[in-house]
Amino acid sequence: MITEKGSSVQELKKTFHGRVISPTNDGYDEVRRVFNGMIDRRPALITRCVNTHDVVQSVRFAREHDMLVSVRGGGHSVAGHGVCDGGLMIDLSLMKGVEVDAKNRVAKAQPGVRLGEFIIETEKYGLVSPTGTVSDTGLAGLTLGGGYGYLSGKYGMALDNLLAAEVVTADGRVLRASADEHPNLYWALRGGSGNFGVVTSFELKLHPVTQVLGGMVIHPFERAGEVLRFYREVADSAPDELTTYAALVTVPDGHQAVVITPCYCGPIEEGERIIAPIRTFGPPIADLIRPMKYSEMNTLIDEANPPGMQNYWKGNLLRELSDGAIDTIVEHAARVPSPRSVILIDQLHGAASRVPPSEAAFAHRDTPHGVMTMSMWEDPVDAEVNIAWTRELSAAIEPFGSGGIYVNGAYEQRASAAYGANYDRLMEIKTYYDPKNFFRHNQNIRPKGQVA
Ligand SMILES: Cc1cc2nc3c(=O)[nH]c(=O)nc-3n(C[C@H](O)[C@H](O)[C@H](O)COP(=O)(O)OP(=O)(O)OC[C@H]3O[C@@H](n4cnc5c(N)ncnc54)[C@H](O)[C@@H]3O)c2cc1C
Repeated sequence: MITEKGSSVQELKKTFHGRVISPTNDGYDEVRRVFNGMIDRRPALITRCVNTHDVVQSVRFAREHDMLVSVRGGGHSVAGHGVCDGGLMIDLSLMKGVEVDAKNRVAKAQPGVRLGEFIIETEKYGLVSPTGTVSDTGLAGLTLGGGYGYLSGKYGMALDNLLAAEVVTADGRVLRASADEHPNLYWALRGGSGNFGVVTSFELKLHPVTQVLGGMVIHPFERAGEVLRFYREVADSAPDELTTYAALVTVPDGHQAVVITPCYCGPIEEGERIIAPIRTFGPPIADLIRPMKYSEMNTLIDEANPPGMQNYWKGNLLRELSDGAIDTIVEHAARVPSPRSVILIDQLHGAASRVPPSEAAFAHRDTPHGVMTMSMWEDPVDAEVNIAWTRELSAAIEPFGSGGIYVNGAYEQRASAAYGANYDRLMEIKTYYDPKNFFRHNQNIRPKGQVA
């Protein structure tokens, strides 16, 4: 039995380098908390790992005691996959080391590192790797699921830059996965999220980026349809160096608005020329585009994404941003129940789109647009109306979509939609590395022969 007095927990503590926390211990509530305030789960035990040895100990302990396991990197899974009820939460958030090999342009990052922390370390050398768009997001979950970001047109998604990983597998072994070592595992980790083991070290390719030309232009909501049609032209003709987002938001004065967020990562002068039409169209009511460090670009929407809010998100991947999809988005945006909610249209093009879908587990290379309906509100009593609105919008966009979903944006269990054409191969690799589905508190890939 797993109690504080139980001899097994005491045994674990003797060889554990970090901290083992039970529900009665100080800090329990703080550590089990994740980004999404809607998630209130109570693990029986939390292991706060400080090294690979601790992760191995945690995996072995959970196996011996037949416990459900959840793995928490940055805790930003909106579905709350980082924390489970009643099981063992393997908390990696204290493992924050980053080593930069500037000569070979490779960074090694531990799994508790947040995007902002990672960028600050590599930027010291004038080098960065593609990440996401909010600095507090965990590098681990973002990279293992995909990683859309401001540099993906030029340098691919975060996962395309994963050169190797150290992984603790379900049987407690420590493996190195790369193109040459456990290549199937390496293939599966790049998009298969937390299904194949606990990654204790990420080796990521770095690129020379010192400044980007980025920021936002803001337009009144009344012109949303026209602005989104213009955005489509911009996105569909963007060179690799330019990655763009559009968003329907409510600005601090309470008005709704539509925002275009470009990020150009080539020479600034060339960027000024390429971005000029974005600055003149409309014209916008505000133009906040300027040269800045990538680390700053990565914090532009931080304030809009505070931890602890109630969140319910749904995503649709689109092969084209049709007039029908735009009109549907605008019509639903007009009825948004919460001023904190955002409809985000993101882009997958350039280098990220040229990777063959069979190259890595992430399969959705043919959907240049994604629509993320990100509902966020403060008071739990408003859940019903916000969830209903999110579902309605996502269902209304579904006919315009590819049927696929992004694993890192998915709330519900829809593995075949999340992994697409790669699902069968992922099941085979899962059967080999995790035949008993030990790692299942995630967007789950079932081993062959296991039913729901
Ligand atoms: C505010 C916000 C902004 C976001 N922006 C972007 C964006 O710009 N681009 C984008 O692509 N996505 C974005 N996302 C989605 C993001 O990629 C996912 O939420 C991702 O899961 C976050 O990773 P994490 O480590 O913080 O999450 P966690 O909740 O810790 O983990 C998420 C999943 O990964 C698994 N996992 C975590 N660490 C490990 C590990 N070391 N080994 C094995 N499995 C592990 C977990 O078990 C879980 O299944 C955003 C999310 C939020 C909340």
